[in-house]
Amino acid sequence: LWVTFEGGDGVGKTTQAALLQQWLEQSGRAVVRTREPGGSEVGQLIRDIVLHHRGDIAPRAEALLYAADRAHHVQTVVRPALARGDVVIQDRYLDSSVAYQGAGRVLDAAEVRGLSLWAAEGALPDVTVLLDLEPRAARARLDAADKPFDRLEAEKEDFHRRVREAFLALAAAEPARFFVVDASRSAEDLAQAIRSRVAERL
Ligand code: C5P
Ligand code: MG
Repeated sequence: LWVTFEGGDGVGKTTQAALLQQWLEQSGRAVVRTREPGGSEVGQLIRDIVLHHRGDIAPRAEALLYAADRAHHVQTVVRPALARGDVVIQDRYLDSSVAYQGAGRVLDAAEVRGLSLWAAEGALPDVTVLLDLEPRAARARLDAADKPFDRLEAEKEDFHRRVREAFLALAAAEPARFFVVDASRSAEDLAQAIRSRVAERL
């Protein structure tokens, strides 16, 4: 079973991924928790470029960097784990590329999705949890975390608003894969809802 978490910056993906992992491991499942970008050694190098490079990266180059990370990650981490029968819990996947690289409106969403599917040889998760949160509330959480912003987090509110809309549109287009939750609810409340959805697929 392959579960991905999607949503804007500061919505609580990492927290929920960790809670889901805990619950699955307590019930005796082998879990691989991973993320994009940066879920492999090569991916770590790519993550460093896309998040910490000072200055602009050409939009198509950025899209290709995420796609390169994805290609390597799916082939060397995700597919082997699924083949062993492990549950894969992943922070961000191709929906993030469509939402972020598509949301700047420089690149066409369908092209970005096509590029990702090519990179991943068509691999799609069984369940995608979309944590939906109003961008101002998400920003307040990032501010409270008191960590330096990365290149994307530092984008303006309008950018994050477009990203949110893009995620919601993706969820509406694929209701069977997506599980949309209101991320303003308490972490425990959300964890419970997510567990029920995942349990249906186990
Ligand atoms: O979720 P995490 O903090 O690991 O993501 C790193 C950053 O990369 C986020 O700020 C996100 O906005 C950005 N990102 C992106 N396109 C992707 C994946 C992540 O712009 N395909
Ligand atoms: Mg982040």
